[in-house]
Amino acid sequence: MSQQEFYLDSNATTVVLPPIADAVMTALTQEFGNPSSSHVTGIRAKARMERTRALARQVMGAENGEVIFTSGATEGIQTAVISALQSAKRRPMPEKPLLLYGATEHKAVPETLKHWARLLDVPAEVRAIPVDHRGRLDLDFIAAHVDRALMVCTMAVNNETGCFQDLRALEQVIRTGNPQVPWMVDCVQALGKLPLALSSTTIDYAPFSGHKLYAPKGIGWLYVREGAGLTPVIAGGGQEGGLRSGTENGAGIAALEVLFGLMLADDSTFADHATLLDYRAQLVATLTRVFPDLVFNQDHSCSVPTTLNFSVPGFSSKELMDLFDAAGIRVSSGSACSSKVTRSFVLDAMGLPAWQSESAIRLSFGPAMTAPELKAVCERIDTAVSALATSCLLESEHDAEKFGLKGLIQFKAGSSCCWLYVDPDSDHCVVVDPVDSLNERLERLIRCQDLTPVAILDTHGHADHVSSGVALREALSDRIPPFLMEVDALGWPNACGSRRTLADGQVMPALVLGESVLVRVPLPGHTDDSVGLFLSRNEGDTLLSEDLDFAFCGDTILMGSLGRTNFSNSQPQALYHSLNQLSVWLSPDTLICPSHDYHHQFATSLAAEQREGGLLAQVLSGGMAEEAFLSAKAELDRGLCDQPGTELMCGATPTQTSVAVAELSGQELCQWRSEGRRMSVLDIREPHEFALSPTQGADNVPLSRLVNFMAQQRYRLDSDPVVLICRSGSRSLLASQSLRRLGINNILHVAGGHALS
Ligand code: PLP
Repeated sequence: MSQQEFYLDSNATTVVLPPIADAVMTALTQEFGNPSSSHVTGIRAKARMERTRALARQVMGAENGEVIFTSGATEGIQTAVISALQSAKRRPMPEKPLLLYGATEHKAVPETLKHWARLLDVPAEVRAIPVDHRGRLDLDFIAAHVDRALMVCTMAVNNETGCFQDLRALEQVIRTGNPQVPWMVDCVQALGKLPLALSSTTIDYAPFSGHKLYAPKGIGWLYVREGAGLTPVIAGGGQEGGLRSGTENGAGIAALEVLFGLMLADDSTFADHATLLDYRAQLVATLTRVFPDLVFNQDHSCSVPTTLNFSVPGFSSKELMDLFDAAGIRVSSGSACSSKVTRSFVLDAMGLPAWQSESAIRLSFGPAMTAPELKAVCERIDTAVSALATSCLLESEHDAEKFGLKGLIQFKAGSSCCWLYVDPDSDHCVVVDPVDSLNERLERLIRCQDLTPVAILDTHGHADHVSSGVALREALSDRIPPFLMEVDALGWPNACGSRRTLADGQVMPALVLGESVLVRVPLPGHTDDSVGLFLSRNEGDTLLSEDLDFAFCGDTILMGSLGRTNFSNSQPQALYHSLNQLSVWLSPDTLICPSHDYHHQFATSLAAEQREGGLLAQVLSGGMAEEAFLSAKAELDRGLCDQPGTELMCGATPTQTSVAVAELSGQELCQWRSEGRRMSVLDIREPHEFALSPTQGADNVPLSRLVNFMAQQRYRLDSDPVVLICRSGSRSLLASQSLRRLGINNILHVAGGHALS
């Protein structure tokens, strides 16, 4: 996959510009002296260091005070915090002392405050200063608390949103309430994007990192105001006037010298503010045209033009990241990964709606951006977003080639699963276990693929919400045959008169969709109204267990677990019988498609559950009496902790057992190919990603179609190796673990995916 790359993640780090890289090379190979050496080579290195320090002052507008070269901003933050805490220890402690920091500060700040307050025994509370919906600090809060503060930490420009603070107003409120308090302003993201005049302020500490503006990683500096406390963090040979020991990073300093020269020069290397504003306007125009519903997570009137942060309704940040990456556009998800959902603590602090925080994308560029490059970026964004039509995720103005949808497709929202089954021989489809947040996507897909929904079904009534099936049926009513619109509480059409006989001779209602048939069976337990829906080819009146491809069992059987039975309408005793009944109806390998998937395992089977050895395995082995089951089940349910504001767990979640999978490196895959080895390569990215950057010789089986693939694969267990590949190796790892769990062993995945191939 070779395509031009567009790097739009400058707030994370930047490329080293060619003249800067040249200076680094010269410093490494020719001017490599140690500034402490007294010979000519050393004297030259020292002179360069002092020249650079003088330029740093010009760039920061700091005629006086200290400029200390560091390894980067994180080190500068340590020095500032330790210095402020040491100063505080020498003064009388106020009552209830505080260490104040902006709620949207980079994690380096609050974590450093907590760490050193603990280690240095400073009994202060580390407290966040709230921000408003634009990310601006609450000045009233500062005014009310600053008298008790031992240190105030704020940032000039936020790394996620580009929001800049009004430093003059901040200074006014800080100094009015506490003239002496040490004040640190993190200037990392301001460098090269905002004019700085540090000497005209009372800012005590300002940390910087070179790699955010075209210098290499590993070099930065800290400005310290004249008279501000300064405690060296690194002791040793006494370099930097004893303020930061250790031989200086000569190559990094050489890089800064060139960078500062470029910043101060009146040439065209760095675009001026007006040009950057124009670039932002062009990007905004492109993004809002391709995503008409897009919402910006920032106020452009108080953010630097080089950072755009937005969310698109209906798309997670992971999906958009995957899309942009496939198109060669490098952006950031703008959010940190927490245990379950990815969301941005910055956007949360700004009080933006949860969906915006969960689906944020940050796009950032530097002042070396050029007009032709920006034009090409806009064109590439256009191409990338047009590809979404391939997956029917966006409507296309053109007649885009669509990915043919047949068989089973899984949709996920958090841990909730919803299933769409499209009959292979007709346009008939059914939706099982609809989820509110996926309705819009499903509706778009069904229309885009020109499908006829025969039923929208629930496997049980939900404890915590009304089924979204009602709304989806209404939205699609123009496509549903009128006689199928009259349904029962779980969406089963009243007009459905077919019947099928199951393995044990029981006759159950059936719904025919083209060449497939869906049979409904009672499965009380999790709730008294729980049902199972069995899918098979429509080939006769009797359905033997081996005929059943898929069984939608809702919350009855979850991967490695069973649905909870402690709701008011649960029936634990009935669950025991439902499970025994399922073991008669289903084959060991029928794919059980649950309505919750807590660990990305997609689907399960009785055989997989038996191998896992949980409670279900004991029931299936025939060795567990009803009473023992009931007490074990009650014990499992007691382990569920429902906390207000968190997702209601529908089943006990076992600790995830990791499944070992065979992996292949990108190089090995190349070698296998050149050796002409027999194998199937499956690219499991979504169709639009595949369309943007196809993998030669691979079939596209998107992750959402994995369970469908599992059903087909059951009959090819002894086939050639199947190699799974995705963007970074994480989806292919999950998929191969899940296939292995289901007993499909001839699977390998490409570690590092396309990124390392
Ligand atoms: N502060 C801000 C605002 C940042 O964006 C970053 C890096 O992302 C840092 C501090 C830490 O910088 P470094 O990792 O270069 O030490």
